[in-house]
Amino acid sequence: MTTPAPECAAEPTVEWVDCYACGSKDHEELLWSRDRLHRLPGRFRVVRCRDCDLVFLNPRLTREAILAYYPPSYPMNQFRPAEPADPLRRRLVARHLARMDRIKIRTVRRHAKLGPGSRVLDVGCGLGSFLAELSRRTGCRAVGVEPAPVPCRFAREKYGLEVHEGLLEDFEFEAGSFDAITLWHVLEHQFDVKKTLGTLAGLLALGGKLVVESPDFSDPLARVFGGFWCNLELPRHLIHFTPRTISRVLEDSGFAVESLRRGGAMPPCSVFLASLFAVFRATYDRDLVKTAYLTQAVWALTWPLFALEGVLTGRGVMTCVARAGSSR
Ligand SMILES: [Zn+2]
Repeated sequence: MTTPAPECAAEPTVEWVDCYACGSKDHEELLWSRDRLHRLPGRFRVVRCRDCDLVFLNPRLTREAILAYYPPSYPMNQFRPAEPADPLRRRLVARHLARMDRIKIRTVRRHAKLGPGSRVLDVGCGLGSFLAELSRRTGCRAVGVEPAPVPCRFAREKYGLEVHEGLLEDFEFEAGSFDAITLWHVLEHQFDVKKTLGTLAGLLALGGKLVVESPDFSDPLARVFGGFWCNLELPRHLIHFTPRTISRVLEDSGFAVESLRRGGAMPPCSVFLASLFAVFRATYDRDLVKTAYLTQAVWALTWPLFALEGVLTGRGVMTCVARAGSSR
């Protein structure tokens, strides 16, 4: 059963914020929506900064209040590598996870030369399967930071990874000690995005690369689905970047953007399907593996269509590679 965390209040505590990018207080209201994934209480308001176009949640939940919106059924906590004896559905979900890991690894290796002696930091590393596979393939030393205790323990016990339980700001890593830092759908959850990026810029070695995958609010499907667009992920996503606004925030935080492309590790049809599920109030909240047959079948039948759609319009996500240093 899906059980909302006990501290989830009917009227969660909120706080108003100025624009994360430029500090402006002048915002226009774009839409109101709800937590479509877990159906936890609250209506949430998304605004656009009139000065720099950054789109963000305002007001947002406080750091304390938002914890209740990451229940144990949060999908990222449900992924598991599968054993051969597992049921087919579990193995299908695991195959999906492994495919995403392969795409992430390709992206990172395209931009960063990694080998034994290299160090890679994955912020929000979840269960650690990406880091473990990257380390296995390149010999690099992999380090993770993950606030959720269960995935943290899994990553340590299953893969023997060095994973620090908590938020990035809780730890002091050596300056300039990482050759690559990755954030897979993590930047949009940050309460102080410029401070986070500033910290990461200081942790990168000379020539090191930051790889960020994030939802792309300029995706036409965001207009089509409005408050049902799955990547709104309210109230967990605090910021809704576009290629232009993420570039600006990165550059203002001490990075030079080297590459920005639409698409990422998420499969082409996943944003469309998850948004459609939201419209019909179906959700994979309770058990991710219950949707495994459906998503795999739809994917198998429609991938050429969605591949074309992805080429033409984007895929709801974008991948950005940057290096520390304010000029190219
Ligand atoms: Zn602004």
